Amino acid sequence: MKINKDFFLKIWRDPVWSKVISVGLLGVIAAIYAFIESIVKDSSFTNSAINVLTMQIKLWHVLVAVIIFVVFYSIRNLYWIKDLTNQEMDRQYVFLSECETELKGFMWIWTWSKVENSSNYKVTDLHPLCPICNGTLTIPDVLGDYECGKCDNEIETQYVPSKSVIKKQIINDLRNKYPDEALFIVS
Ligand SMILES: [Zn+2]
Repeated sequence: MKINKDFFLKIWRDPVWSKVISVGLLGVIAAIYAFIESIVKDSSFTNSAINVLTMQIKLWHVLVAVIIFVVFYSIRNLYWIKDLTNQEMDRQYVFLSECETELKGFMWIWTWSKVENSSNYKVTDLHPLCPICNGTLTIPDVLGDYECGKCDNEIETQYVPSKSVIKKQIINDLRNKYPDEALFIVS
């Protein structure tokens, strides 16, 4: 394993290693305390270290240790949650590369829209394609027929499957194809 940012992040997140770090921190604090005491009392570091190691534990020592542990774990968990959220936000889902499929005799194209304040995506701008030229078929008038944007092909609405049925099928197919990402595909 390479020693880089990921390596430290892994140790930082690991439940066992983070406890080792906590104990290590306590050791470092004890060493600093012994060092300061050796300067203040003008004694050797070894003597001060022995003093620290053999000193009587008072209640306030325990309280300070508890506070240090709590602060350490709070910081760690805060970073952890932030990391996870960032990962979730930045995650590039594989299903987002799927923007066309053939269903019920037509090719269909769509785009993905992110659902606000979530990591979910929904199918939008769903259109059938013209069987003659692959142009986009749209319904220009509310009660009119499908018309091709490229050629003059017109298809009666009744011969084109309903978009809501197609959309449900697309979502269903993609959820089956990408089970790991199924939760993020919504209708
Ligand atoms: Zn056409």
